[in-house]
Amino acid sequence: MKSRLVTAVIALLLLYALVSWALSVDFALFGHYYLRNLSLLFAPLGLVFIFLQFVFVSRIKMIEKGFGLDRMFRWHRVFGRLGLILVTLHAALIIVYRLIQFGATFFDLFIWFGIIALLGFMVTAGIASTYKKIGLAYETWRNIHLANYVLFPVVMIHVFYHISPGTMLYYLWLLLAVLFGAVVIYRVIRIITLRRNPYRVTEVRQEADDIWSLFFAGPRIDYQPGQFMFVQLLRNGKLSSAHPFTISASPTAEHLSITPKQLGDFTMTIKDTKVGDRAFIDAPYGVFSFLNYGRGEPVFFAGGIGITPFMSMLRYMYDQKLDQKATLFWANRSEKNLCFKDELEKMQAEMPGFRVILVMSDQPDWEGEKGHIKGSLILNHLESIEGKEFFVCGPPAMSRAVINELKQLNVSPLMIHSELFEL
Ligand SMILES: Cc1cc2nc3c(=O)[nH]c(=O)nc-3n(C[C@H](O)[C@H](O)[C@H](O)COP(=O)(O)OP(=O)(O)OC[C@H]3O[C@@H](n4cnc5c(N)ncnc54)[C@H](O)[C@@H]3O)c2cc1C
Repeated sequence: MKSRLVTAVIALLLLYALVSWALSVDFALFGHYYLRNLSLLFAPLGLVFIFLQFVFVSRIKMIEKGFGLDRMFRWHRVFGRLGLILVTLHAALIIVYRLIQFGATFFDLFIWFGIIALLGFMVTAGIASTYKKIGLAYETWRNIHLANYVLFPVVMIHVFYHISPGTMLYYLWLLLAVLFGAVVIYRVIRIITLRRNPYRVTEVRQEADDIWSLFFAGPRIDYQPGQFMFVQLLRNGKLSSAHPFTISASPTAEHLSITPKQLGDFTMTIKDTKVGDRAFIDAPYGVFSFLNYGRGEPVFFAGGIGITPFMSMLRYMYDQKLDQKATLFWANRSEKNLCFKDELEKMQAEMPGFRVILVMSDQPDWEGEKGHIKGSLILNHLESIEGKEFFVCGPPAMSRAVINELKQLNVSPLMIHSELFEL
């Protein structure tokens, strides 16, 4: 689904919430009644945003195609924050209003449903934004975050007891309740479908000291080179959590593959995977592929393991014998970190339009380019930046630096695409 269409639907939902509010309050009342009116405005808007955060985190393929999952997760975070701010304002204002008007505030049971949901949302949002600082494992905060699926029905009960049937607000409530149910059912069906279609590990290959590739056989998936998948490994009867990895194989290959670098709890165990182990694969996701744009000759910038989407794209160009010019700048600390070196050399020798420039930041005896990827280095290797389209994938600091260099060379942001290995 095109992102413009999704944005239009969101705008319509918010407009509906605004109109339902405008028709439900009495603007003729003055004084502290304005606290109530304002509070009742924040409630439906907050509810819409809180609902939207579920839509944007549910990996709904139809929507993801137009956005890319990283962008959807960013929107999820923005909607979550906006929703939380609005419902907090709603609660604060209505409490003050009730104290002024009635001298009491918590006199109906269903207010407590709202308060409990609000406190719950505050806790889950707080943990989501601080989990690294407070030292929580990724899986732990994610499991805590799932509590939001229980908190939303709680907030819906609170809303139900404060609106009148047949009003516009009632129909908004009904619509959100039905859509939320649909999102939950979608997620459950997806999990069941994945479990029924397992993959089998066919090869575990060491690519460098700390980099391993896993190959999988199973149901065929249509994907573009550069896209990624979520993988769960079932080893010794233990199921891992789902981790995102670029599909390092090309769509032309027989088997799917991923190439994880050892980084933390899960990636450290990749090497212990055995041929025959089962895997559950949810794919494809992402829009980071030269096939998606085609506005110019592709120039790839990889940092370390950020090479994987480009390997997929280059393997695709090679297998398809595309008459395609392409340049790869690949930054690493030293030669020791390289994987796929022989394959890249072979591609360079056999694909006339393809060049690799290896850049080492930490190897004084390296005979090629040294240091970091700077504008001058880019210009030295490209005849011109005109007619080129730039793709960047690597650690956040490296990606930001390269994008900055490109902007300083007056490359239009529309011609720069990047993939972060973080959702
Ligand atoms: C689109 C995309 C493509 C990727 N492709 C590759 C690749 O080709 N090769 C590669 O080596 N790495 C890739 N990664 C990164 C890879 O997903 C993480 O390195 C891996 O999940 C870390 O798990 P860990 O338990 O070993 O490390 P940890 O130390 O537990 O986590 C390190 C960081 O990885 C992220 N992370 C951890 N677990 C998850 C999870 N279950 N879901 C999502 N993110 C998580 C978090 O940001 C966390 O802070 C990719 C990530 C994304 C988003």
